[in-house]
Amino acid sequence: MNSSSLKTPYFLIDEDKLIRNLEIAKRLKELSGVKLVLALKCFSTWGVFDIIKPYLDGTTSSGPYEVKLGHETFGGETHAYSVGYSEDDVREVADICDKLIFNSQSQLKAHRHLVEGKASLGLRLNPGVSYAGQDLADPARQFSRLGVHADKIDPEVFASLDGVMFHMNCENKDVDAFIGLLDAISAKFGTYLDSLEWVSLGGGVFFTWPGYDVEKLAAALKVFSERHGVQLYLEPGEAIITQTTDLVVTVVDIVENDMQTAIVDSATEAHRLDTLIYNEPASIEEASENGEHTYVIGSCSCLAGDQFCVANFDEPLSIGQRLHISDSAGYTMVKLNWFNGLRMPSIYCQRSSGEIQLLNEFDYQDFKRTLSQWPVR
Ligand SMILES: *Cc1c(COP(=O)(O)O)cnc(C)c1O
Repeated sequence: MNSSSLKTPYFLIDEDKLIRNLEIAKRLKELSGVKLVLALKCFSTWGVFDIIKPYLDGTTSSGPYEVKLGHETFGGETHAYSVGYSEDDVREVADICDKLIFNSQSQLKAHRHLVEGKASLGLRLNPGVSYAGQDLADPARQFSRLGVHADKIDPEVFASLDGVMFHMNCENKDVDAFIGLLDAISAKFGTYLDSLEWVSLGGGVFFTWPGYDVEKLAAALKVFSERHGVQLYLEPGEAIITQTTDLVVTVVDIVENDMQTAIVDSATEAHRLDTLIYNEPASIEEASENGEHTYVIGSCSCLAGDQFCVANFDEPLSIGQRLHISDSAGYTMVKLNWFNGLRMPSIYCQRSSGEIQLLNEFDYQDFKRTLSQWPVR
């Protein structure tokens, strides 16, 4: 299979690029003793888990289906944490997870008896400090519901807890800023941590970013785990799959209304939702910063503001031309939806051998089934 014969839109995951990230993860583990569990909410395309499994220790999940998927398709350690579990959720999840982490002391109190003897018991704490570019993604934002705040902790809960989880970073590329958060946690919660077996420091640490000082991060994690006598975990999502995947689209029309707009056979609202939610323009591989021809890369959905980006090109774009929207793996394939009844992108993996494998494709029946299966008669 040759990629130019594939029908757009499609995602193409590059095994070599994935392995490059995973090798960094491996080095971080070796240097620090940290364990790494993949955050499935960022990336759950289990067709490539065979590539990832040898490098990581397991998965971390939220909803019961995610937990089941991690247990079934990845194995290793399965962590489960949710902002709110129903009793049914807890019963289902406790049988298949290794660690169950509650978001509040009330959830812990209500459900702990269903977990004891089955899984290691954890509680999420909110450190009150964070590193996040946007308020929407800031776990320490005002009135945050994520984790127990320091002034609300009942110290007695630690007597019967195995571990705690802090998640306070989003795409943090600054190792010193992360170390600052670690120090704040040590100072604020240190006496509680000393009695625990494990501490998870959550996700959002961007240790695969070019130039990131992995050695410095590893040294700080090692000091922290030795100081408090705990096994440390990180829960990377984006760091594992960053810069590994293109969303490949075709230009289907070009219109001009004071600006040239190339309309492509995909939409951010349906296929790359975070472009819209976080208002962060995508990057196009074919673009060139100083190109003379400027286009809005517009989507084919009906939403007025739905566009991938504005980009410059050396040559004018033409109808039928393909564009590669880079870095399209994290928080995309897990959020695909059928808005406007658009064609759903297929999912492929380009293996190191050069072979392109089909992981998934969708058709009209898949769309129809999500809407109703049993008409009223
Ligand atoms: C979102 C999330 C992660 C993964 O975050 P990334 O930024 O993708 O690394 C890990 N842990 C928790 C609790 C999360 O909510």
